[in-house]
Amino acid sequence: MLSTQTYKEMENTPDGEDAYHGRTGPFPIRQRTYAELTASMRGFIDAAMAEGFRRVDDFNGPDPSGVGGYPVNVVDNVRQNVGLVYLTDQVRNRANLKISGNLLVDRVLFDGHRATGVVTDDGEEIYADEVIVSGGSYGTAAILLRSGVGPAEDMAKLGIDVVADLPVGQHLQDQPFYYNAYALKREALDMRPAVGALLWLPSSEARGDELDIHIAVTHLMPPEYSPTGGAIALSVAVVKPDSRGTLTLRSRDPLEQPEIDCNFLAEERDARRMIEGVKLARRIGRNPALARFLELEILPGDAVGDAQLADAVASNLASYGHPAATAPMGGPDDPWAVVDASGAVKGLSGLRVVDASIMPVVPSVALNPTTIMIAERIAKAVYPSELGHRGAELAVTT
Ligand SMILES: Cc1cc2nc3c(=O)[nH]c(=O)nc-3n(C[C@H](O)[C@H](O)[C@H](O)COP(=O)(O)OP(=O)(O)OC[C@H]3O[C@@H](n4cnc5c(N)ncnc54)[C@H](O)[C@@H]3O)c2cc1C
Repeated sequence: MLSTQTYKEMENTPDGEDAYHGRTGPFPIRQRTYAELTASMRGFIDAAMAEGFRRVDDFNGPDPSGVGGYPVNVVDNVRQNVGLVYLTDQVRNRANLKISGNLLVDRVLFDGHRATGVVTDDGEEIYADEVIVSGGSYGTAAILLRSGVGPAEDMAKLGIDVVADLPVGQHLQDQPFYYNAYALKREALDMRPAVGALLWLPSSEARGDELDIHIAVTHLMPPEYSPTGGAIALSVAVVKPDSRGTLTLRSRDPLEQPEIDCNFLAEERDARRMIEGVKLARRIGRNPALARFLELEILPGDAVGDAQLADAVASNLASYGHPAATAPMGGPDDPWAVVDASGAVKGLSGLRVVDASIMPVVPSVALNPTTIMIAERIAKAVYPSELGHRGAELAVTT
C-alpha cells in the first residue's frame, strides 16, 4: 500500500485513472497509444487480439493482462532517465552535493565493522559518515566483494580480508529473453517509434495471479540483420523466473569484470515457459493481421520447427537487462539476506545499499521504476528531516 503511494508520488503522467496514477511527480511515464505505433506493431496488437488476448490501454492500471502499447519514459522523443529528472539544476547546485563523474569505486573502507568511506581505483580515499552503494546489481556486488563483504570462502581464495560473511552475488536473478525476429516487407519499413508494444500474460504454469511472460515488441535490431533493411522483434521473456545465478570476482582488481552466470533456464519450469512463449510469438507472427507486414522469420528461422526450438532458443538466449538480487533484502533470520529493510548491510554500520541489487526477487516488469520506488522509500524513512515533507509518516517494510 505504501509502495503504491510512493509510485504515485514519483509519477507524472496524463494517462490512466487518478486512482492508479500520479500527475506531478518527477518521473514521466507515457503509455504508448495504438495510434502512435508503427503499422507492423499495430499488426502485432491486432494479431494478438485475434489469438484471444484482451486489449490493454494502461499497463499500470488495475488489469495489465493482455496486449497494447508499452509504457515508456519518452517525452518529446527524449528518453528521460533519473539523471535527467532527479538531478535538476536546483539539486546540482546544493552546497552539500558534489558530483564526480568518471570515477571508479574500488572498495569500501572500514574501521572494524564501521564503513568510513571509499577508495577509488586510482587510490583516492573519500571519507564519509555513511556510505551508500548504488552501483547496480553487478557493480554493487563487485564493490562489496572487493571490500570483504561476501562469502568468506570466496574471499579467502582471493586473499581478501573478510569484513562480513554474507551471501553477496549468490542469488542473482534476471529475466531470460529471446528475440523472435522477422524481416519487414519493403512496403512496411516504418520503424519509429522503435519501442513498442507488449503482450503480458500468464503462462500455462503461472502461479497464482502472476503474469510471467512478456512478449515485448520493438524495432531494435540492426538493419543489416534483415534482408529488407527493416525488422521487428517479438521478444519473449520469462519475467518471473525460478532460476538463480551468481556473480563472483575473478580477482580483486577493480578493472577486471566479475564473472556473471545468469544460469538462465536452469530450472525446467523456466525452460518450458520460454518455449511456450516463443511458440505463442510465432503463432502471432503467422496470424494474417501481422503476417501481412512480414517478409520472413529471421530468428529462429522458418526452417526451425518445434522439435529444434529448444536448441535454437538456447543458442541465442539474451538477458532482458534486469539483473536483481545480488545483495537481497531480508529479515534477521533470512539466510539469503545481505541488507535489512532500510538497505543497511547486516552486521555492519555506516553502510547501506540502495539499488536493484537489494530486490530479493526480480519483479515481473522492467526494473527502473521499482528501483526508484525503493530509493524514495528508504530516503524518506531514513532521512525524513533532510527530505522534509511527509518523511516521518513512511516506514520501510519488506
Ligand atoms: C539496455 C537496457 C535497457 C533498459 N530499459 C529499461 C526500461 O526501458 N525501463 C525500465 O524500467 N528499466 C530498463 N532497464 C533496466 C534499468 O535500467 C535498471 O533496472 C535500473 O537502471 C537499475 O538501477 P540501479 O540503480 O540498480 O543500477 P544502474 O542504473 O545500473 O546504476 C548503477 C550505476 O553505478 C555505476 N557503477 C557501477 N559500478 C561502479 C563503480 N565501481 N564505481 C563507480 N560507479 C559504478 C554504473 O556505471 C551505473 O551508472 C534497462 C536496462 C538495460 C541494460
